[in-house]
Amino acid sequence: MDSLYDLTFTHLEDTLRNEGIKAIHAQKLYRLLYKDSITLDDLTPGVRDWLSKRTTTKATVVRDIASSDGCTRKFVLCFDDGQEIETVLMGYRGRYTACISSQAGCAMGCVFCATGKMGFKRHLSAGEMVAQVRFLNTHLASEGKEPLRNVVMMGMGEPLHNYKELMTALEIISDPRGICIAPSRISISTVGHIPGIKKLAEAGTAYELSVSLHGASDVERDALIPVNKRWPIADLLETCRIYSEKTKRKVLIAWTLIEGANDSDDHAIRLAQLLKGRQVHVNLIPLNPTEGFDGQPPSEERVLAFQRIIKETAEIPVTIRQRRGIDVGAGCGQLAG
Ligand code: SAH
Ligand code: SF4
Repeated sequence: MDSLYDLTFTHLEDTLRNEGIKAIHAQKLYRLLYKDSITLDDLTPGVRDWLSKRTTTKATVVRDIASSDGCTRKFVLCFDDGQEIETVLMGYRGRYTACISSQAGCAMGCVFCATGKMGFKRHLSAGEMVAQVRFLNTHLASEGKEPLRNVVMMGMGEPLHNYKELMTALEIISDPRGICIAPSRISISTVGHIPGIKKLAEAGTAYELSVSLHGASDVERDALIPVNKRWPIADLLETCRIYSEKTKRKVLIAWTLIEGANDSDDHAIRLAQLLKGRQVHVNLIPLNPTEGFDGQPPSEERVLAFQRIIKETAEIPVTIRQRRGIDVGAGCGQLAG
């Protein structure tokens, strides 16, 4: 039997109907499951009885590590089969963002990423993604804080490799009757999984799409991201164009800066030439240290010079990602369970 966290609102209505309960009760059930705005006493005895026979996905905290700056907290969560994953809470000025995992491990094998080094363990179910968000909102409420404002699918795994479960989870997370985080506040980060981006474009929901580029030529990108051989740069950028056209949103191009590998003026110029005239903005991420990869982040001056060249050459916005939670292994690419 599915966990209740696996059910979109429509699916919950159908399930109730099939089991002889009026679909109207789905409203209250969603409020109970996701908002804490009602209690069991607010349900009719029939619905309470129905609920007592159902389960929700359990995510048990194994470890909880706060970063020294107090802005980031990494939770290691364990599901019923013993699989552990990591989920990260980032807070700044009272606004909270969840960095959610979509898989345990990852099959894409990017050389600079700790999750990639682990290999692929398994996909997470929609309920397991929803459970991470629910867990963080409950945690925030217990500390008297505002609920999550943003969700980024940038934890462990390649979200578009687990497309169906991802889409179910995001439908539940964005449903205004429950957790209610608008699609525009949900970001999906992908290694450049072209079939997944195409399906997302067809679905048309305006999630923010972030594409991890990191190389301006196929030879350079192949060396960092093995799946570039399957989904090369020209095809990827064309698919991003289609995504922008369908969703009317700019695509975010993520660029992890690795000293000596992709951080020179020449790299910046070639990246700018690739992106000029496209509906994109660029987000630079200085490399976070991970075991098994001896690359280093560039100096701050180099990062700023790289930013300036792209801004001036391509006339597109370029931001630098805040580095948070590095000391507790909660930064981009450091999650390894
Ligand atoms: N699989 C997805 C989402 C998870 S990784 C993807 O690859 O996009 C989230 C982001 O962290 C990606 O942009 C990824 O390239 C980046 N990243 C991975 N390892 C990193 C590291 N060691 N330092 C900085 N960024 C890293
Ligand atoms: Fe997987 Fe993303 Fe890490 Fe690449 S960077 S191995 S796609 S999680």
